[in-house]
Amino acid sequence: MTRSGQEYTESLRDGREIWLDGERVKDVTTHPAFRNTAASIAGLYDLAHSSEHSATLTQGGVHRAFAIPRSYQDLVARREAYKVWAEASYGFLGRTPDYMAGGAAGFAAAPHLFTTDSFDGAANALAYHRRLAEGDLYPTFTITNPQIDRTKSASEQEEDDLVVRVVAERDGGIVVRGAKMIGTAAVFGNEVIVGTIEPLAPQDVEHALTFSVPIDTPGLKFISRTSYEGQARSVFDNPLSSRFDENDALLICEDVFVPWENVLTYRDVDASFGMWWKTPAYRNFVHQAATRFWTKLEFLTGIAILLTKANNTYQLPPVTQAIGRLMGKVAQAKAFVLAAEASYEEIDGGKGGVAPGKDISFAQRIMAGELYPQAVQEIKMLAGGGVIQLPASGADLLHPEIGPLVAKYIRSPGHPAEDRIKLLKLAWDALGSEFAGRHEQYERFYHGAPHIYLMQQVWEGDTASCEELARHCLDSYTLGQAVRP
Ligand SMILES: Cc1cc2nc3c(=O)[nH]c(=O)nc-3n(C[C@H](O)[C@H](O)[C@H](O)COP(=O)(O)OP(=O)(O)OC[C@H]3O[C@@H](n4cnc5c(N)ncnc54)[C@H](O)[C@@H]3O)c2cc1C
Repeated sequence: MTRSGQEYTESLRDGREIWLDGERVKDVTTHPAFRNTAASIAGLYDLAHSSEHSATLTQGGVHRAFAIPRSYQDLVARREAYKVWAEASYGFLGRTPDYMAGGAAGFAAAPHLFTTDSFDGAANALAYHRRLAEGDLYPTFTITNPQIDRTKSASEQEEDDLVVRVVAERDGGIVVRGAKMIGTAAVFGNEVIVGTIEPLAPQDVEHALTFSVPIDTPGLKFISRTSYEGQARSVFDNPLSSRFDENDALLICEDVFVPWENVLTYRDVDASFGMWWKTPAYRNFVHQAATRFWTKLEFLTGIAILLTKANNTYQLPPVTQAIGRLMGKVAQAKAFVLAAEASYEEIDGGKGGVAPGKDISFAQRIMAGELYPQAVQEIKMLAGGGVIQLPASGADLLHPEIGPLVAKYIRSPGHPAEDRIKLLKLAWDALGSEFAGRHEQYERFYHGAPHIYLMQQVWEGDTASCEELARHCLDSYTLGQAVRP
């Protein structure tokens, strides 16, 4: 059954090892760097119990993201559930529990891919999916090797244990050591799956493993990046970063014991890579992410409209045209979601249900990574200097001496100072703050680096049809027809 926000919050108080600013965090639910975001995530869990959203978010008492879609209609229902949670954070919480839930459903749709010569992880993959769905757990993941030296494979790095690898087998499981990046939302999760989505070299066999463990597993450490929530002055001053800072952390395994039942792939280069691509897991990721991206663009475009109306520039033709361009981007983002659903494909001859169409899902990454910075730039150009010329905090507005001055000079027709400052601070948090910069990097890289996904689009795309059409045209005339008829 789906958990309440309170049950989720309690689950985070488990002694997990989170480090921030050289200190171990005792409790993420009360620490000023994490507590508001933990509360926002708890709010998502509560939505599943609300009369307004329960039917959209759940099916048979389980969150819809865990369900294996069997039809186009199921895909639409899953997207409608994704949209409810995406709107709750205006698209700024990317790795909400439904993201990896879709991944787990993807594994369960094709469990046979976990059966290999070196290890049979099929039952474990199914149990992983079941454990998450039945417990309504928050799954997170770190499946990228730390950068260190990108010209070398995992086993070629200057020390053996830089990238997570198996160092011993014991009764009942394995011992792993090393690091992975980037654990987005891991500090708010219940489990983290550790694996590799990049191709591994044949010699990387000790690094070719995938497992999922509870966040409080002994030896598992997370080193958090700067907390934007911790830096926020108030919700009024930093309305997004103070509440929707999903965190990113480096994962380190210091001789972590992993029971066999938590291992999904083991000592198999192809299975460790293929589990993300040959099952529908990755396409399910994109389905969630594309829905959230569409929502985020709707929100940013809404900010642009409110900003330009406040500045009284909205009616100026170049400004209206810029809004038109943004609306066009919203439609593109939406079109990718709807088209990926409409081009659905059967998995394993239908035994594994259906998944969003591969070509369009994969292409969404290219579109989104390029479109997001363009949209942000467009809105910054519309905003001008007002988003910078703001009092440091709402305290100035409340001050008896300078408050009236702020109210007099920071306003617009129909927008008294408090309204205007509130709007502009929201805009800057979304567009120009350090939190906003992280979001730009996120939208560019969270689905992998362009040098990989652009190549993949060529390797796996239908280049033959494009080539054939061009070839057809070339073949339709000859030198003899060079003279005008
Ligand atoms: C905010 C954020 C959140 C993330 N969250 C998660 C998460 O929750 N879980 C997770 O597993 N991962 C996460 N990621 C990691 C993400 O998967 C990686 O950032 C992504 O796979 C790209 O890898 P990289 O950052 O190591 O970049 P690199 O692979 O190092 O590439 C960086 C740049 O280097 C150049 N380059 C590197 N290698 C080559 C090459 N061989 N050929 C040509 N050019 C090259 C390119 O210019 C490329 O753009 C997150 C990333 C970000 C930014």
